[in-house]
Amino acid sequence: MIHLQKVIAACLNLIFPPACLYCRKKLQESGLLLCEDCFGRLEFIKKPLCSCCGKVFLGSGGNHLCGTCLQSPWFFHQARSLFIYDKIIARLIYDLKYAGETTGLETIQKLKNESTVLSDFMTPDLIIPVPLHLQRLRKRGFNQAVLLAKAFFPNEKEKIRFDILIRKTNTPYQTGLSGKERRQNLKGAFFVKNPEAVAGKNIVLIDDVFTTGSTVNECAKALKQAGAERIDVLTLCRAGNNNV
Ligand SMILES: [Zn+2]
Ligand SMILES: [Zn+2]
Repeated sequence: MIHLQKVIAACLNLIFPPACLYCRKKLQESGLLLCEDCFGRLEFIKKPLCSCCGKVFLGSGGNHLCGTCLQSPWFFHQARSLFIYDKIIARLIYDLKYAGETTGLETIQKLKNESTVLSDFMTPDLIIPVPLHLQRLRKRGFNQAVLLAKAFFPNEKEKIRFDILIRKTNTPYQTGLSGKERRQNLKGAFFVKNPEAVAGKNIVLIDDVFTTGSTVNECAKALKQAGAERIDVLTLCRAGNNNV
């Protein structure tokens, strides 16, 4: 199936030379999804930000805790995203599903290498993509978080595990829900299949978008309760800038 997709993609490249997925300008550098200009327009997240949830602060200065994190700690140790969510990133996330794995991986790797937010991360024992419910996975045929995990950690693929954290309820789409509704929706949505695999481990959780943090927090809760030592969260982008 994957092989067939690659053959089709190669044929399409011959007929239609690759173009930037956002502005459609013809691409000079092969293997990437975005042109130089669109790369340049991406808004990389930089300091100062909340040292826990990654909320971006205006101005200069060092990282510190935001009001939300001072009041109610999360189950994860820290969350970081490469970008603020915008039209280009939205398009990139959408296209990753159709562009073929190799092209998507190279683009994400380039983006990750240019980001400065990962310096706070420890070396993980395990890398866990936020799981989809089996029903949704069958329908979509693909979990973007797995692709992102491979792109973020190309040399540590043996640490990427998608057989540990299971999504047991098929939660409706979270878009348009408030933070409280999201938390309610996700209560008990995840469980750890084999707690012995996570006990005492440092884990990085991977997802595409950090919106209110409810999803990754619920995952982190399940992993913590199963005995994990520390959970860091890495997402491609951060939607808006509130962590309700
Ligand atoms: Zn472009
Ligand atoms: Zn915070």
